[in-house]
Amino acid sequence: MSIVLGAIADDFTGATDLANNLVRAGMRTLQVIGVPQGALDLSDIDAIVVALKSRSCPAQDAIGDSLAALDWLQDQSARQIFFKYCSTFDSTDDGNIGPVADALLDQLGARQTVMVPAFPVNGRTVYQGHLFVGDRLLNDSGMEHHPLNPMTDADLVRTLSRQTPHTVGLLARPTLAAGPEQARAHLDRLEKQNVRHVICDTLDEADLTVLAATLAQSALVTGGSGLGQALPAEYRRLGWLENVDNAGQLAPASGASLILSGSCSRATLAQVEHFLSRFEGFALDPIALADSDDQITEALAFARDRLSRTDPVLIYASATPDKVKQAQEQLGVAAAGERVERALARLAKELVAEGVGKLLVAGGETSGAVVSALGISTLRIGEQIDPGVPWTQTHLPGRETPLSLALKSGNFGEVDFFSRAFEVLS
Ligand code: ADP
Repeated sequence: MSIVLGAIADDFTGATDLANNLVRAGMRTLQVIGVPQGALDLSDIDAIVVALKSRSCPAQDAIGDSLAALDWLQDQSARQIFFKYCSTFDSTDDGNIGPVADALLDQLGARQTVMVPAFPVNGRTVYQGHLFVGDRLLNDSGMEHHPLNPMTDADLVRTLSRQTPHTVGLLARPTLAAGPEQARAHLDRLEKQNVRHVICDTLDEADLTVLAATLAQSALVTGGSGLGQALPAEYRRLGWLENVDNAGQLAPASGASLILSGSCSRATLAQVEHFLSRFEGFALDPIALADSDDQITEALAFARDRLSRTDPVLIYASATPDKVKQAQEQLGVAAAGERVERALARLAKELVAEGVGKLLVAGGETSGAVVSALGISTLRIGEQIDPGVPWTQTHLPGRETPLSLALKSGNFGEVDFFSRAFEVLS
């Protein structure tokens, strides 16, 4: 069967989040990092998620990257295109959600698309076009202080209208509650009135199911990973999707287990502490890293001594806010972060070459640095460890067996995540 869903995600962890939901709903999913250069084996793949970095860049760059991704997905004959953004509609008045959606519609020759950011299980719902995070309106949820995309208006019809010259409409809950036929008729009526973008209310999973039934055959849908959770059942009903027992089945993992942590988020700090109560770890200090490579040499020696054992080995820069502040004051914020990212990326490269086959990385930016140092361009998505974080697998040049990789951003995962992740895998 061919590729059913081709998704374009505006950031890396958002892409994984969507891919994870697709797998859980029964689609065999590949995440690709940027637009692939060479040919890929897609013979047992139902969905592809292209991870871009287009959320906060200039709108023209976001459009260019998104259209290149669309071109490539069209070459793979994807039946439906999904533009994935954050469930808090992260964008500014200049974009990039409106401009990218407009460009995708133009290239697809379609006249209308929907906006379904809601992710009810995570407390993101939309009512009368207003986005809520838990029981707060978006502009009162903390998102109004976001450093890159401050969200100061919860009215998504109004917010999106500032990002597009076209008309924005609403599919409100009462129409949605009447079922897919009524919802479809409403969208068609709006299309006749040249309404190009339709914000969709969504209060719960039942609303997502109605939306999926309404939208599965549209050329382009846009939204958060909640919609991704609901669409596969509809594809199956349409006969587009093969029934597979376990869409997250990966090849058996092999090799030594390593954890690299550059995240200083509260959840990660607790995970590091929990892990160190049972196993060994090596702490990196950005100030020492700035002076010489001695710490890297010591960390390598520490890991090499232990990798032949079955227990995972932890190397971490994760530190409490006061220690981070101290390093930042001495080195500068960006330089302190870069030192740590560079050190962890180098350790990943050397230790994977020396036999690490199961690698867990904590930290969004840290994961980006490791993925790029290892030259990873595709990730086959496997079983979920904790919500939003799956094991993945990738093939590296010159390596016979695949590398198993789990990339955990900031506040994800339960306190025992570091040790349990490897138990899930074996
Ligand atoms: P998260 O997903 O938790 O936000 P990231 O990896 O995205 O984690 O960001 C953490 C940043 O903090 C990275 O740039 C990392 O290099 C940096 N960092 C990690 N440890 C320290 C430390 N001890 N002092 C200063 N910066 C650090």
